[in-house]
Amino acid sequence: MTLQARLAEVLQTIDKVAAKSGRRQGDVQLVAVSKTFDAEQIRPALEAGQRVFGENRVQESQAKWPELKAAYDGVELHLIGPLQSNKAEDAVALFDVIETVDREKIARALAKEIARQERKPRLYVQVNTGLEPQKAGIAPDDTVAFVNFCRDELSLDIEGLMCIPPADENPGPHFALLSKLAKQAGLEKLSMGMSSDYETAIEFGATSVRVGSAIFGHR
Ligand SMILES: *Cc1c(COP(=O)(O)O)cnc(C)c1O
Repeated sequence: MTLQARLAEVLQTIDKVAAKSGRRQGDVQLVAVSKTFDAEQIRPALEAGQRVFGENRVQESQAKWPELKAAYDGVELHLIGPLQSNKAEDAVALFDVIETVDREKIARALAKEIARQERKPRLYVQVNTGLEPQKAGIAPDDTVAFVNFCRDELSLDIEGLMCIPPADENPGPHFALLSKLAKQAGLEKLSMGMSSDYETAIEFGATSVRVGSAIFGHR
């Protein structure tokens, strides 16, 4: 199967599950995760009309996306991997959405760069729903207070929440938890679901799904 065929299939599945879950057409956005694939491997997705992409490393993205952004109108690039504060400047300059705000230090570094560069990437707070020690993200119990801190103390516009459930667990309860926390924090956007579980995520209210290998193949 070609990349274009896989992309079409994922988009169709998103529409089908969204409709079945009582969501409106266009309610669920596809973030095509292109990490580890080079510009030439990404181009067919752009040619097919896909414009929203996810990357997990700032440096890797700097090597391939400025060229692609210049060649295709309307690209929206999401940072979905952990961000170090010394990379905040580069991240604010390149990304349109940063999904991995997960601690005070990063929030402060982003606030400073947003003011300095007069660029305003949309922001998500990453939640470590499984409390996994090796995984980034704010603890569920601290999420509402952290969102309020970002809004009230730093004037950051937090748009939604993002999570990556533990690989070996049923993801449903994690998606449900993220949805509950978003409601408590007054947020409407939920970034959740990957190749293996995006259908479940849509059923639990995902507004965007981050799908890589189902489109680009194995990494
Ligand atoms: C790699 C990655 C994805 C995509 O994973 P696939 O299983 O390839 O769909 C989604 N979200 C994050 C945070 C990732 O790092």
